[in-house]
Amino acid sequence: PPLFMQRYQFVVDFVQKYEPKKVLDLGCAECRLLEKLKYHGNGVELLVGVDKDSSAMRTRMYSFAPLSSDYLQPRTGPLAIELYEGSVTQPDPSTCGFDLVTCIELIEHLHLEEVEMFSEVLFGFMAPSAVIVSTPNADYNPLLPGLVGFRHPDHKFEWSREQFQLWALRQCEVFGYTVNFTGVGALAEPHTDVGFCSQIAVFNQDPSPQDSAVQYRSREEPTVYRLLYSVVY
Ligand code: SAM
Repeated sequence: PPLFMQRYQFVVDFVQKYEPKKVLDLGCAECRLLEKLKYHGNGVELLVGVDKDSSAMRTRMYSFAPLSSDYLQPRTGPLAIELYEGSVTQPDPSTCGFDLVTCIELIEHLHLEEVEMFSEVLFGFMAPSAVIVSTPNADYNPLLPGLVGFRHPDHKFEWSREQFQLWALRQCEVFGYTVNFTGVGALAEPHTDVGFCSQIAVFNQDPSPQDSAVQYRSREEPTVYRLLYSVVY
């Protein structure tokens, strides 16, 4: 399957394994991952997407409208889907209290100063139980035929495995998470030394002692983000 499908499938597998109830997809674009999670995310009760580009979200969001088949074959549990226009560099109370936040091919579209702001918002304010971040692996780029510069003209950077891991480990230290590194799009031997085409970090929040200074915010009405669409099944 194409690389973007492998990334979505990685998230679907994670959701099926760990069964988060509330999942937030940052930089959801045309909502394709949310759509997959709607069908394959057994046990998910709240799916939220955020993107600064509302026109991308609008292209397919009405496909979330319940079909008559949804009524004929009701879900086993409740499900609500909400889509917001907003920038991930800004904290908004509607993004707190999630079990899983996914950031698939998002960070490389931010300027480095914005990555700093986003890291603080993601791990310090949203503070979800788990986070999945994927981004291109620059170590792999020499193997992409004809590639000059970055993989996409809007990319502000593409990190080597070492750069990505340094960023991720720093977030863990500051905000109290542990991280595991993996990826999708692996080459067979003899190129295994360059790593995966898309590198992925999976973060888990440390269990916090009763007297810890970590502040857990519960999810509240948006103050900055704008609700574009919402549906309850
Ligand atoms: N996650 C989707 C996927 O894997 O198919 C789309 C990834 S697309 C390459 C990057 C998305 O991030 C775009 O839809 C873009 O509008 C969004 N984006 C970029 N900067 C953003 C920001 N500051 N806040 C919210 N979304 C942003």
